[in-house]
Parts: sequence; structure tokens; C-alpha cells
Amino acid sequence: MQSEFRDRVLVAKVAAEIREWSRGAEVRIMHVCGTHEWTITHAGIREMIPESIKVVAGPGCPVCVTPGGEIDAVSELSLRKGVTVTTFGDLLRVPGNTTSLSEAKASGGDVKVVYSVADSIKMAKENPRRNIVHFSIGFETTAPMTAIEIVRGVPPNFSVFASHKLIPPAMEFLLTSGAKLDGFICPGHVSTIIGVKPYRALADKYGKPMVISGFEPLDVMLGILNIVRQVAEGTHRADNEYKRAVRDSGNEAAVEAMDRAFEVRDAHWRGIGIIKSSGMGLRSQYGGHDAAVKFRMKGAYQDRMPKGCGCGEVLLGNMAPKECPLFGIECKPEHPVGPCMVSAEGTCAIVYKFKRI
Ligand code: SF4
Repeated sequence: MQSEFRDRVLVAKVAAEIREWSRGAEVRIMHVCGTHEWTITHAGIREMIPESIKVVAGPGCPVCVTPGGEIDAVSELSLRKGVTVTTFGDLLRVPGNTTSLSEAKASGGDVKVVYSVADSIKMAKENPRRNIVHFSIGFETTAPMTAIEIVRGVPPNFSVFASHKLIPPAMEFLLTSGAKLDGFICPGHVSTIIGVKPYRALADKYGKPMVISGFEPLDVMLGILNIVRQVAEGTHRADNEYKRAVRDSGNEAAVEAMDRAFEVRDAHWRGIGIIKSSGMGLRSQYGGHDAAVKFRMKGAYQDRMPKGCGCGEVLLGNMAPKECPLFGIECKPEHPVGPCMVSAEGTCAIVYKFKRI
């Protein structure tokens, strides 16, 4: 199955179809998923399609959009007596406004890397005298795991600093931002949870094609072809080109768990600003497990990009990583200046790794 989706001959055939359907027209397509950017850059997809078709990366890296002020606040929390902060490895080296979790750790903060929220809960059970705080970030893909644990019941010494974000409101924000966008490649992983319906609403409201794609080169090429074809035909459907993983209705149990644990709130996306109804905070009945409440952490964190860093423009698809003057000079994966150079899902880190664009 996998080899078929990486078959160069099939991919080249789809590229030829894209060329035929595009007829030289300018089409600008955005995706909002770090894994899509990885495939597009690694497979050289931009080099295979006509120059008139631009495929740009949007804010699809959860680590990159986590506000610097939140990173500062959680880093400071890790320095408090009796507190252990757990998080995913990618977040450790992301520079906040003034510090990072790795700097806090070097200064004596108790920061531990975990692979899942379940690891963090296990730590809480094994260390009942410590407060274990999980810095929980990510889109609809990771939020259900935290939600399921919270709803099921967690130890009293376990809490969550929730910085989860929702993708469709961010897509709507981008559609109303005034930027030229002719269609979206919708994120495959997120779509396994939310299904097709949210994109249908956006396609109807804004008259733009939305196509869910998988992560192999052929998947992405078929997504591009679908959008280019819809633009040529003047249609705007939400299509699912990733039926082997995404059901029309998504994963109802996961969505229900998210609804039970979280309420939708406005959220700050790093380098972008506040996007209405694009975040999730723990519902008040779980306040005892909400680190922000438990430790009286202030909300509405300020956000600053490091001087000279173009991540805000990169995340909006307005700037290619190599257009940032710091790319590959002051900013490299081994000493990242901005958040987009840290994570394996960050656009700058991907482009640097594969030396493309
Ligand atoms: S190259 Fe570095 S500084 Fe420039 S936009 Fe990317 S992450 Fe930010």
C-alpha cells in the first residue's frame, strides 16, 4: 500500500494532470500541517508542479504557534518548589519571550519529557507529594488524549496547562485575512478526529475547495490536483482524498471527550495574534486540574518574536523560510532563534533539513 503511494511513475502522472488542468492559471494553495510540509519538501513536490501553482505552509506546527509568554510562564512554574513540569520533547528548546523550558531545567527547574499524557499521570501516581503539571499542546489530534484522561479521572496532584488549538477557526481566520488563497489541503491527522463537516461549512461559506489529504507524495499530489481541478471548473467542494484513514463523521468519541473536558475559547497563536474561538481551556468543573487556576497563573500572555525572526510571516504563508535573513546563519536547528526552526514540524527546520525552496 505504502509503495503505491510513493510510486514515482504514478506521482509523475498526477503532476502531468495538474499541469493540464492548471492551464497556466495562478493558483495559491495552503496546507496547515507540519507533516504535509515534510512530505512536500522531502519529495520535492513544489519542483514537480507548474510554477504558477504555489503551495504554501500555514500555521500547522503546534509547537511553533504556542505563545512565548506561555512558555515563559510554564518555565517559571517548573522552578517552584514541589512542581514537576512534563511536556513533549519538541517544546523543550523552543525559545519563549525571555526563557525556555530547557533554560529553566538548566537553572534547576524540574522539567521532564514524556511521550504521552498517560506517562505524566503515571508520574503523578508514583509521586503523590509532587505536583505534576502537564504542558499540553497540540491540535485536535492530541487534545482528545488529554480530554479522555481528565474525564476518566486523574490524581489530585496532576494538572494540565492546556494550550490546545483548533484548526478550522485558524483556516477561517486565514480566509478572511485578505491573503490570496484558492484552496486548502486539509490536515489528515486532525481530520481523522473532526471528519469532513467543518471543512464543508468553510467551503460553502467562502467558496473555496478544501481537500483532505494523506501524507504520502501521491496523497498530496492528488490533493493538489483536486483543488486545481475545482478551481478550473469553478467549484468549491470539501473532498476527502484520505478515505483510508478519515471517516466523513470523524471520530465521534474523541470529539465528545473534547467537548466534555474543554470549552472553546479565544486563543493566541504565536506570531499571528488572537484567533476567535480557536483554543480549548479546561471546563470549570475540572478547575482543580487546571494548572492556570491551581497555581494562579495569569492568562492572556504577551507574545514577542525574537528580534529579526520572520516566523509570524512564515506561519501565515507570506514568507518562505529562506527569505528570513537569519535562516541558516544565526538560526539553525542546533541554535534556533525562532520556534519554526525547532520542531520536526516547523517549516524552517524542514526546509533547512532538506535544503529546499
Ligand atoms: S529562520 Fe529562524 S528566525 Fe527566521 S523565521 Fe525561521 S525560525 Fe524564525
